[in-house]
Amino acid sequence: MPYAIFNPEKSEYIWSNGLSKFLGIDQSVTPGLDTFLDYVHPQDLPMIRNLYLANQHSYSDLQKNIKYRVKRSGGGYKWVVSTVSVIHPDKGSPCYMTRFYDQNILNDHIAELQNMSLELGGESTEQTANFTFDEGVISKVVELTHIGWYEHFMDENRIVHSQNLKEILGLSSKKSFEFKHLYSKALDEYSKKAKRLFSKVSPTKPKVNLDMRTKVDNRIKWLNLQVEFTFHDGLPIKSFGVVQDVTELKDTQDKLERAQTISNIGWYEYDLVNPENSKCSSEWLRMHDFDDGKVPQLGEYMARLHPYDQKKLGDDLACFLQRMGSRWDKKEFRLLTKNDQVKYISNSSRVLFEGEKPVKVFGVTRDITQGKLAQKALCESERLHRLLSETSRDVIMLLSGEIWNARVAYVSDSVSSLLGYQKAQVLDHKASSFIHPDDLNIYLKTFAMSLSVNGANTKLHLRLVRKNGTSVWVEVIANSFSLKGELMIRLSIRDISEWRDFEEQLIHTNNDLDALIRATDNLIFVIDSDGRFERVIGNEDRFHIPPDEFVGQKVEDVWNDPNGIEMTSMVNRSFAETSSESFNCLHVNRHGGVEWLLVTTYPYMGYDQKARVSVVVEEITRQKQYEQELEKTLEMERELSKMRANFVAMASHQFRTPLTVIKSNMQLLKAVDLYHPVLDRVESRLTREVDRLVNLMEDILLIGKSQTNNMRVERKAFCLRDLVSDLISDIDQITGDDRLLKVTVLGRPVEFIGDYDLLRHALLNIITNAFKYSPEKPNPELKIDYNPQNHIQLTVRDYGIGIPSQDHSRIFNDFYRGNNVGEIPGTGLGMSITREFLKLNDCSIQLESELGLGSVFTVQLPKNTKYHLN
Ligand code: ADP
Repeated sequence: MPYAIFNPEKSEYIWSNGLSKFLGIDQSVTPGLDTFLDYVHPQDLPMIRNLYLANQHSYSDLQKNIKYRVKRSGGGYKWVVSTVSVIHPDKGSPCYMTRFYDQNILNDHIAELQNMSLELGGESTEQTANFTFDEGVISKVVELTHIGWYEHFMDENRIVHSQNLKEILGLSSKKSFEFKHLYSKALDEYSKKAKRLFSKVSPTKPKVNLDMRTKVDNRIKWLNLQVEFTFHDGLPIKSFGVVQDVTELKDTQDKLERAQTISNIGWYEYDLVNPENSKCSSEWLRMHDFDDGKVPQLGEYMARLHPYDQKKLGDDLACFLQRMGSRWDKKEFRLLTKNDQVKYISNSSRVLFEGEKPVKVFGVTRDITQGKLAQKALCESERLHRLLSETSRDVIMLLSGEIWNARVAYVSDSVSSLLGYQKAQVLDHKASSFIHPDDLNIYLKTFAMSLSVNGANTKLHLRLVRKNGTSVWVEVIANSFSLKGELMIRLSIRDISEWRDFEEQLIHTNNDLDALIRATDNLIFVIDSDGRFERVIGNEDRFHIPPDEFVGQKVEDVWNDPNGIEMTSMVNRSFAETSSESFNCLHVNRHGGVEWLLVTTYPYMGYDQKARVSVVVEEITRQKQYEQELEKTLEMERELSKMRANFVAMASHQFRTPLTVIKSNMQLLKAVDLYHPVLDRVESRLTREVDRLVNLMEDILLIGKSQTNNMRVERKAFCLRDLVSDLISDIDQITGDDRLLKVTVLGRPVEFIGDYDLLRHALLNIITNAFKYSPEKPNPELKIDYNPQNHIQLTVRDYGIGIPSQDHSRIFNDFYRGNNVGEIPGTGLGMSITREFLKLNDCSIQLESELGLGSVFTVQLPKNTKYHLN
C-alpha cells in the first residue's frame, strides 16, 4: 500500500516505493512534499496544502478519508482516499503517516466519470449533465469504505491482522483468524472461485482481486478481497490482503448502472497501449449490442458500425493519431444490430496523450435512436406541412367593418401569388376594390344577405382583379364570427381558373358531341342508375314530346308502348349484367312516317363513378329494306334450284323410257339376224351411245334425287367383305379387262350399319374409276382396315393416270372431269354421286394423287353405334 511519512519538525516528506509507482514517479526522484503536491490536481491543491499546514499546528485533529485527485501514471487523474495517522517514533517528534488507497473499481469508475465530466465540462450537453455527480454520493461511498487487512507470513506460520477484519468477515471474535476464513463465509460459488484463484497465484501473477457474496450475520454482503503474495524461489512466503465491505458500493454501483441504463448513457475507456485493460459500462455494451462482461476489441467494435460510419471513425482515429485533434463531441455513429436494425449512437470522446503518443480514448455514448427516429418523423411531418402550405394556394383573408365597406384586416402571404399584390398593398384596403366590377353586385348581395349574423357562412364564385389588370376566377368560402364584439368575416379564397377553364372546355366538348350526334341523325339517351333519363342528345324530330320533358323521368313512364317496355327491360338487364343488347323495332314518327329503329344499350361507368346506360337509337329503315329484299332473292334462288333439280329428275325420267324402247328394239334387230357390214357397225355404235345415254340418265336421276333430299336411306348391319365380294362380280363385267382387284383385310372385322345399296354404288364408282383410269397398269388394290379405333378405313389405290392437283377438289362437282382424261369415256357425275351417297352413310372421302403415278381414295366409315338395329 502506498504511503508517505511527513515529519513536520524536519519538514521531511518521505514515501514508499509503492507511492512512486502509484503516482508514476521515477524511483530515482527524491521524494518531497513539493514533488508530491505537483501531482495533486490543481483544484484539490489548496485543500491538501491546508491539510498539511493544519496538521503542523494541530496534531490531534487528524484527517481521515480525505478524497482528492492525483495525476496518474497513464495520464489523467485518479481519485484517491488517504488517511493520516500519527506515529510516535522512539525518538523525536511525532510524524504523520499518510496511507493512500487505490480505490476499488467503483471509485475508479466514479473518478473516470468525474474526469470525463470535467473534460467535457463547460458544455451543458445532456450527456455531461448526467455525469455531474453529487459530491455527497462520493463522500458517502468513502465514508462507508470499511477496510480490514491481514498479513500472513507463511514461513513463520504467523498471521497479523487488523481488529476489524474478523468483524468484516463475520467471524466470531474468539476464533483466531486463519487464511481460509477469508472466503469461508462466501457463498458457495464465490468461495470456490476464491479457492481456484488462490491455487493459481504465481510469481508472475501474484495478485487476487475478487468480489464475493458473503453471508455475514444472516445478511448477504459484498466483500472485496485483494490479496498479494510474495514469492521466494518460486514459493509463496507471504501474503498480504485487504478486505473491504463493498455492499453499499455495489448497491450504489447497481444504482449507477441502472441510472445509466435509464438515461441511455454508456461510458468506455479504450486503452490503446494495452487494449485488454480497456473498460466500459454494461450499458455501453448493451447499447452496442455486445454481450455483457467482455470488453470488445477495436476491430469488433468497428465491425458493429454502419459501413459508412466505420470510415468516419477511422478518419477520427487517424486524425488524433497524427495529433491533429484530441476530442470529438457528439459525433453520431450508426450501428447495425445483430438483427440488422440501425441504432444511432452519439459519441463524445477524448484522447489522452503521453508525450506524443495517444494512449487512451475515453468517452461517453448515448443511444439517440429514439430521438433520431422522432426527429426523422418530425422532419417528415414538417416537410408534409411545408408541402401542404406550399401547394395550398388558398388565400386567407379577414375582413372587418360593415359589409359594404369591409376592409382587409389580415391576409395570408399567398395573396401575392394569387393577385400579384404584396400583403401591405392589400391590408386595410376595401375588399370590394379587388373584385371584378361585373361581380361586385353578387358579392355585396350575397354577403349582405348571408353574413350579417355571427356564425353564418356562404360560398360563391366570382372574379378578382389582379394587380396587372387580368382577372382570376375564385371560389370564396366565407364565414362570419364575432371578435371582441365586432363582426368579422373570414374568407378562404381558392383559385378555380383552371377548373373554370376545364368546365368551359367540357361544355364545348359536350356541344361538339351534341352536334356530332345530330349530324348522324341518331339519338342517344343517357339513363342514370335510377332508370331515369339524364340526358337526351340528337334529333328531336322523332319525339312526340320535347326532350326537356324526358329528362328526370323514368323510362317506363315516358315510353310505355311495347317498344318502350322492351327498351326498359333491356336497360335494366344492361345495368344488372353490364352487358350490351340491341333490338329492332318499328316506330311511327311524329310526322306519321313508319321507320325501322335499331336500339342498342351500352352500360358504362360515368365520370363520377356512377353506373349509367346509354341507349343509341339508329334509324335503319333503308338497311331493313335491303335486308328484306336480299332475303326474298335468296328465297327465290332456293326455289329455282329446287325447280331445276325437279325438272332434271323429271326430264331424265322421261328420257329413260324412250331410250329403253330404242335399246330393246335394237336388240330385236340383232335377233332378226340381218347382216350388213354397215348395219353391224351402226348397231354397235348405237348400242354404245344408247348405253351411255342410259347411264347418264341414271346418274342424273340419282344426283337429282339426292340433292333434292328425295333419297331413301335404309340402314342395316352388314359385313363389308360381303359387300366387296358382291362388287367384284360386277367389276368383271364393267371393266372388261382381265385384271383383278387385289383385296386385303386388316384387323378384326366388325359389321357396318348403313344403306347397303348406296354404299355399294359409291364404292363401285371408285373402284370402276380405278380400273378405268389405269389402263394396262398393275391391278388396283382395295384395303379394308378395321384397326383404327373409331372407324373402318377403306382404301382404293390404282397406278393409273392420276389427277392433276388443281382438280383434286373439283372432281366431286357435278359434270366435272379432269383435264387429263383424254379419250377415256365418262360423264363427270360419278364422284359427285359417290360423295353424296357416302355422306348419307356418315362416311367421308379423301383423295391423294400424283399425276402419272396413280390415285388413292380413302373412305372412312364410322364404327359407330349411332344406329341401333333390333
Ligand atoms: P367420269 O364419269 O368422268 O369418270 P367421275 O365423277 O367418276 O366421272 O370422275 C370425275 C373425274 O375424276 C374423272 O373424269 C377423272 O378426271 C377423275 N377421276 C376419278 N377417278 C379417277 C382415278 N381413279 N384416276 C384418275 N382420275 C380419276
